[in-house]
Amino acid sequence: MQLRVLGCYGGETPDHRTSSFLVDDSLLLDAGSACSGLPLEDQLKIKHILLTHTHMDHIRSIPFLLDNVLGKVSHKITIWGIPEVLELLHDNLFNNMIWPDFTKIPTPEKALLVLNPLTPGQETDVDGYKVTAIPVNHTVPTAGFIVDNGEMSLLYSGDTAETDEIWKAGNERANLKVVLAETSFPAEMAKFGDLTKHLTSENLPGELKKLNRPEVPVYIYHTKPAHNATIKSELAAIEGYDIRIMADGESYSF
Ligand SMILES: [Zn+2]
Ligand SMILES: [Zn+2]
Repeated sequence: MQLRVLGCYGGETPDHRTSSFLVDDSLLLDAGSACSGLPLEDQLKIKHILLTHTHMDHIRSIPFLLDNVLGKVSHKITIWGIPEVLELLHDNLFNNMIWPDFTKIPTPEKALLVLNPLTPGQETDVDGYKVTAIPVNHTVPTAGFIVDNGEMSLLYSGDTAETDEIWKAGNERANLKVVLAETSFPAEMAKFGDLTKHLTSENLPGELKKLNRPEVPVYIYHTKPAHNATIKSELAAIEGYDIRIMADGESYSF
């Protein structure tokens, strides 16, 4: 499995793009920066998006991606997520006010955009991968994902505060090879972590203890750009886990 970091931050500056990861060629995990982080010819290859939730930093490039590929590709773009996420996305973004309803463009029968619900906890075939959505603990309906290519599994936490189910599912997955885990704030901002339901560098270890797979590398995403340096130094002090900090533009092979 190839993973390309299009954006890995919980905010935006000219040097920081918001969360979006390309799995191999045609599957996206979230779509915060699928356009700003990917040349047009590669955008044309995207067929599926696993969407954790509807916060702006995870959906912001979907409207532009649809615009960019309309009339240039013969495939559809399918967004997969738990039913609440797809409903919020359709009602609040593709509502013909904020952006056109691409589930009816160019025609309802041949629409470019398809919204396909995932049943929580149930494995579904997406683009040849076995995908399981697992609800996590955020301020809006949110699910993390386990993506299994038949040889290995990747766990993507989604935005979350302390949570249990997804770590349990990861623990039970014998072929788990990599974890993408959110950490948004430094320890001193615990109050904001609680308020916005995100992890801090102080409560990440408790989550990794629940996962109980210390041999599996944990790639950190969703750090807030303004606090990135502090979070980095705090995470570097955590012992007993293989914690790595992502950066935009990096590619990994698992
Ligand atoms: Zn976010
Ligand atoms: Zn969020």
